[in-house]
Amino acid sequence: MSHKIIDGQAQAKAITVEVQSRVKALNELGWLPHLVSIDVGDNPASAVYIRNQQRACERVGIAFENRHYPGDISQLEMMAVIQALNVDPRVTGIVLQRPVPPHLNLDALQNAIHPTKDVEGMNPTNIGNIVYGQPKLGPCTSLASVALLKSTGLTLQGLEVIVVGHSEIVGKPIALLLMEDLATVTICHHGTRNLSAHTRRADALFVAVGKPGLITGEMVKPGAAVIDIGINQITVDGSNGEKKSKIVGDVDFDSVHEIAGWITPVPGGVGPMTVAMLLRNTVLAVDYQKQQYEKNMQH
Ligand code: NAP
Repeated sequence: MSHKIIDGQAQAKAITVEVQSRVKALNELGWLPHLVSIDVGDNPASAVYIRNQQRACERVGIAFENRHYPGDISQLEMMAVIQALNVDPRVTGIVLQRPVPPHLNLDALQNAIHPTKDVEGMNPTNIGNIVYGQPKLGPCTSLASVALLKSTGLTLQGLEVIVVGHSEIVGKPIALLLMEDLATVTICHHGTRNLSAHTRRADALFVAVGKPGLITGEMVKPGAAVIDIGINQITVDGSNGEKKSKIVGDVDFDSVHEIAGWITPVPGGVGPMTVAMLLRNTVLAVDYQKQQYEKNMQH
């Protein structure tokens, strides 16, 4: 079976070009997309995300600002920070970097971000809009994963889709988005009996678990589209016997790419598309705020 690599990097680039021209047009109308990132405490993983988001924003002309808060900040103080950003008209998008220190209630903070500034699409209002078939700002990784499947040209109506992993921001929204296109969707999780009995009948298989090597070649239907969302850091032996760290997905690429019709690589698949979707959401957020402003001006 000859497989095709789904090139997330190339597709992300195309979206970035589209976003760049939209940013320019909004700027000319006096609407400057301005993304504020909030991070709490010292977390090396967040530092990498922040740097990547900053570079991506700068490339398309979105103003980016990171606000760093000490690890012992209280829940009340954090809520005040978010409320101040919600009402600041110069701020058009807010990203709360994860993880936050354990004494903070992440869900409550996430939910406090105003739905029209929630560019990561994690607020219950934005998730709820997907349930109602009217997505506005969807969760970036789910949007990215679904877009990569659509790029294969497969007809979604009637497609047998299996989603492994049922988190609120990845697995569940992927299932809801594909149901809108009349795919037949099954969600698997750690309570699923005989995972491979499900994965083997998938025309399209999404995997978002966080376990390297979870899906192997014998678990995949020949010709299926496999979208690997997992990001795992593993240690491998280098050519001189030294230990090296490497990023891999949840899918055992070597065995699965022999069987699959399409497969996303890790890195270079869902990751770059997720960043592109964040940029697109940041621009869409400005569109919604502009529409709201114009509506208010008419009354
Ligand atoms: P999460 O909240 O930890 O969810 C993991 C899901 O996997 C849970 O629904 C869990 O189900 C399920 N699961 C655990 N063990 C399983 C098993 N043996 N078989 C089937 N399902 C199992 O993680 P997440 O935020 O959805 O992220 C998942 C992965 O995607 C991680 O590797 C993360 O780093 C990656 N990710 C990548 C991007 C990107 O931009 N590419 C973005 C976000 C996340 P139970 O709750 O029932 O245990």
